[in-house]
Amino acid sequence: MAVPPAPAPVAYLDHAATTPLLPAAVEAMVPLLGVGFGNPSGVHRVARAARAALDDARDRLAAVLGAGPHELVLTGGGTEAINLAMQGLVARLATRDPSGRPLLLTSAIEHDAVRNTAAWLGTHGRARHVELPVTPEGVLDLVALRTLLDERVAQGDPPALVAVMAVNNEVGTVQPVAEVAAIVRAKAPGARLLVDAVQALPWLDLRPITAVADLVAVSAHKHGGPKGIGALVVRNGTVLEPLLHGGGQEQERRSGTQNVAGAVAMAVAAEHTEAHRAAEIVRISSLRDRLLDGLLTAVDGCTETVPRAAKVAGSAHVCIEGVESESLLVLLDRDGVAASAGSACASGAIHASPVLLAMGVPEVRALGSLRLSLGAASTDDEIDRALAVIPAAVRRLRGAS
Ligand code: PLP
Repeated sequence: MAVPPAPAPVAYLDHAATTPLLPAAVEAMVPLLGVGFGNPSGVHRVARAARAALDDARDRLAAVLGAGPHELVLTGGGTEAINLAMQGLVARLATRDPSGRPLLLTSAIEHDAVRNTAAWLGTHGRARHVELPVTPEGVLDLVALRTLLDERVAQGDPPALVAVMAVNNEVGTVQPVAEVAAIVRAKAPGARLLVDAVQALPWLDLRPITAVADLVAVSAHKHGGPKGIGALVVRNGTVLEPLLHGGGQEQERRSGTQNVAGAVAMAVAAEHTEAHRAAEIVRISSLRDRLLDGLLTAVDGCTETVPRAAKVAGSAHVCIEGVESESLLVLLDRDGVAASAGSACASGAIHASPVLLAMGVPEVRALGSLRLSLGAASTDDEIDRALAVIPAAVRRLRGAS
């Protein structure tokens, strides 16, 4: 049964959640859903054509990421890539770790894909997990990282894995991956470094990140590709226990018939994003600055959560006093502005975002958070619309309380 499309918002300001497909990605993908439908593991000509398309996509994506094509494991998205990295490494190391539970260090502002995988490994007795604090600007605290590594190494208990994201999905801060890598290599040379780069590709050249990491996770739908396809870069001889067993695809690292159309669209979207990145950063940061400056002027009690210099160009995150994000989002949606909050609403209870709490934002302020995220599809008209709708919605909510 065909599902009717949702009415288009007048202003889509939720690119950190997902991005619309780039036309170039759609164009590249469609033939592979039709005549190019073959299974790339087969031997006949239909299969070989699909294999050629897959190999080409792998080469092109690997080039954007600064990896070798053999280092790429195609996955069903960012969450799977991260689970493969974390669970795969822990399973591989369990028998070698004296405690049987390897030590994982993650920043306190990781996405749930990292946070909940670490928690699951912890509660199932497979790993130990320690979170590293962040500064009030939402950046990993390097002093704390150094201190913790010194302590653990002195105790003969170095970490097996350090995980740090490249760009935070909520507040948009760029994390000091190069510095983290230098510290980890110097103090705990046996530790593997996982970088969750799912939010990074629109804003950063990933090659310097790949160059210093062992494992890098990306996901197509954050850079104009389709949902349900991603990749894990596996480098430096890192061996992972597979999560999925079956036909041995992806060099035994991830069984399952590959999503050829998705892989091709992911690669094309990555190349397109990289080719336009520098110009887009200039254009989008000026839209973002106009949005933020307009909100700070028009909305009393509205503050920027982190300084703009610490974040990527598409990220605008504010906290608005005396307003609950969930109620605000409903009003914004009604007036055609698609945005999100850093708070999660589970079983009717509204919780402040753990990311904001880890940054030391007081809970009452965190409950009024608003994440506005821009991307390649963002326009001036959308900013005009948001600047008309958001202040009015805040006034309405304040008037109602
Ligand atoms: N990591 C970060 C930083 C993210 O923002 C997301 C998605 O929001 C993920 C991981 C998960 O990626 P996916 O949606 O492809 O599973």
